[in-house]
Amino acid sequence: MGKPTGFIEYKREVPAEDDPLVRIGHYNEFHRHMPEEKLQTQGARCMDCGIPFCHTGKLISGMAAGCPINNLIPEWNDLVYRGHWREALDRLHKTNNFPEFTGRVCPAPCEGSCTVGLNDKAVTIKTIERAIVDKGFDEGWIVPQPPSSRTGKKVAVVGSGPSGLACAAQLNKAGHLVTVFERADRVGGLLMYGIPNMKLDKKVVQRRVDLMAAEGVTFRTNTEVGVNYPAENLLKEFDAVVLCGGATNGRDLKIKGRELKGIHLAMEFLRKNTKSLLDSNHEDGEYISAAGKDVVVIGGGDTGTDCVGTSMRHGCSNVTQFEIMPKPPESRAANNPWPEWPKVYKMDYGQEEAAAKFGGDPRQYLINTKKFVGDENGHVKELHTVLIEWKKDENGRFGPVEVPGSERVIPAQLVLLAMGFLGPENAVLAGLGVERDERSNAKAEYGKFATNVPGVFTAGDMRRGQSLVVWAINEGREAARECDKFLMGASNLP
Ligand SMILES: Cc1cc2nc3c(=O)[nH]c(=O)nc-3n(C[C@H](O)[C@H](O)[C@H](O)COP(=O)(O)OP(=O)(O)OC[C@H]3O[C@@H](n4cnc5c(N)ncnc54)[C@H](O)[C@@H]3O)c2cc1C
Ligand code: SF4
Repeated sequence: MGKPTGFIEYKREVPAEDDPLVRIGHYNEFHRHMPEEKLQTQGARCMDCGIPFCHTGKLISGMAAGCPINNLIPEWNDLVYRGHWREALDRLHKTNNFPEFTGRVCPAPCEGSCTVGLNDKAVTIKTIERAIVDKGFDEGWIVPQPPSSRTGKKVAVVGSGPSGLACAAQLNKAGHLVTVFERADRVGGLLMYGIPNMKLDKKVVQRRVDLMAAEGVTFRTNTEVGVNYPAENLLKEFDAVVLCGGATNGRDLKIKGRELKGIHLAMEFLRKNTKSLLDSNHEDGEYISAAGKDVVVIGGGDTGTDCVGTSMRHGCSNVTQFEIMPKPPESRAANNPWPEWPKVYKMDYGQEEAAAKFGGDPRQYLINTKKFVGDENGHVKELHTVLIEWKKDENGRFGPVEVPGSERVIPAQLVLLAMGFLGPENAVLAGLGVERDERSNAKAEYGKFATNVPGVFTAGDMRRGQSLVVWAINEGREAARECDKFLMGASNLP
């Protein structure tokens, strides 16, 4: 497992990034590659810790600790250290259909539970994962591998995000004929039209989609099940159905002034930006521009960060990001011990870029918006805000309480609402009669993935609510196994 003394001899290193002020001039990925010798040294830091937590993928306090797809991390760290890249790639593909996605966008819960991280900086697991798969593509090792025989069974997968793609890839491996339905014009779900190009180049997504098509998976784009393809046809035309439609119903902020022009849900802003970029390099003008505007992003999560990064690239005059929760501590709090996911303060790429251009982290914490005010043309011009504190009420429940005298007026000509998601949309669920759970997600037990409708399974954000790419891959793989069992009585899928 790596070099026995590697974690003592070598310090953690991560790949260099393009300067924030340079990279806001383009939409290309900005993490540079690390030279191979350095990657081998980083692999050598994996310390033969005996009981590695990095690949456990357990939920502790509601957050993933360790890799949710149980990547064989110590094994491929060792193989990279020894220069056995091809074997490392084979080991990586055993558990992960799409390491080129997770190696770019995963928040790496594996690193939060790395044993070296107990008293030093964690092994650079995510960087090594990306390097293995990128080398695999560069060397031509990753080629279509269609199944040697077909079962004659037909499966429909609805939704082409990471859960639908992982599910389709696995079912195709098992020999079933898989058709993936996607309402958008391009395949990939939030990999394509959510996560911006600078975090995950769309050529990387398309490359994997092309590979899957060459392996025999059929993609039907511009087809919304329940809208322009009747949901009830699914069970007539296919032997089983897996619903992977995501949880794309954005949370709105229904306060005074919401109807004003210039206030948009984050996903509308991000989707249009990527589509216009891919269609015409923004020449068609079919996107919501932040150029020359004061932008306020309401919501401090990943989606909000992507809105900040995109606004920076448009050339906004200023950007502010509101977060209703308090600023996290600089290091782990006493109630957030290793190997839990570390809830600590960090600057993500969008905040780094805003800080480089405007002089500071754009986030404001413990702030709430009370109303939007518009100009004479019905366009938003300012937000009226108040600071809050989180206090317990008489029933012991925490809730936000306004701080008297903390009201402020913040100018904005563009407001982006990035306050999370409220579960899946209705078209396909209603069409098939699939029940929802108490959180409004498609109802199915984790591990079984079967809905109340026989032969219909569900996975990914549609089942668990808005989550992570790595969980979507986990659920897609596991739902494929359950679906295979349903079709064949048993399954050899991992
Ligand atoms: C802006 C943003 C940034 C994010 N950044 C990260 C990140 O950096 N790292 C990370 O790990 N996670 C990130 N996430 C979360 C991650 O993208 C999701 O958890 C993941 O994509 C969920 O995968 P999924 O396959 O379940 O659903 P999705 O990716 O949402 O895909 C669902 C697909 O189903 C299609 N669909 C829905 N209904 C129908 C229908 N009736 N007929 C046909 N097609 C249909 C949709 O068009 C969509 O393409 C981000 C999310 C957002 C919104
Ligand atoms: S998929 Fe995510 S959690 Fe798993 S090894 Fe890769 S970076 Fe770590």
